[in-house]
Amino acid sequence: MYAHPDDPEVSCAGTLARWADEGAEVHLVICAAGDKGLHHGGIEPSRLVQVRAGEADAAALVLGVAAHENLGLPDGEVDNTVALRERLVGRIRALRPDTVVSCDPTAVFFGSRYVNHHDHRSVGFAVLDACAPAAASPLYFPDAGPPHQVSAIYLSGTLHPDGWEDISTTVDRKVEALTCHRSQVGEDVDLVDEVVRRRAASAGADAGLACAEAFRILHFR
Ligand SMILES: [Zn+2]
Repeated sequence: MYAHPDDPEVSCAGTLARWADEGAEVHLVICAAGDKGLHHGGIEPSRLVQVRAGEADAAALVLGVAAHENLGLPDGEVDNTVALRERLVGRIRALRPDTVVSCDPTAVFFGSRYVNHHDHRSVGFAVLDACAPAAASPLYFPDAGPPHQVSAIYLSGTLHPDGWEDISTTVDRKVEALTCHRSQVGEDVDLVDEVVRRRAASAGADAGLACAEAFRILHFR
């Protein structure tokens, strides 16, 4: 469960592809439509949403996910509201996942040059709230389906990683999936390849792996 159409590919595509290869049924739930995902403008927001939906379709095929969907909220306007939590609880109770993956909302600053996007932080908190305790309790959102307790939450984009997933068999597909999001990563495929592999090597170095994605992991069972 992520904010923007390319967030899973940036954050955890290697892990999702490996889990899919191992037989897991992977569903992507994206909250925002991607309508403000260009710094230079020059395209109608409604057209950009169409372009990004096509990119997400292509990336999902590469990763082998079972399904992907977009809740269609406007970029930059995703807040951790009761309404969003109810929608996320509805998806959790319908899909009944063992593991939910999202972004760590407590990560605000990455170094001195990047502030974590508002939507990432909002979705991260909304997902945490939806999983613990709302989805598991019949007293929360009783019309959103039968209760479901997720077993674990994996948080990417974290400053406090405590678990690492080996993506050595799927890093090629992470690169391929990310390059599907051409509106976001541009035309320089070699640069995407280099950045993805450098980050995977860096994450893996902390865990003795050649190639990894790092997470902060919560277990509920
Ligand atoms: Zn994003």
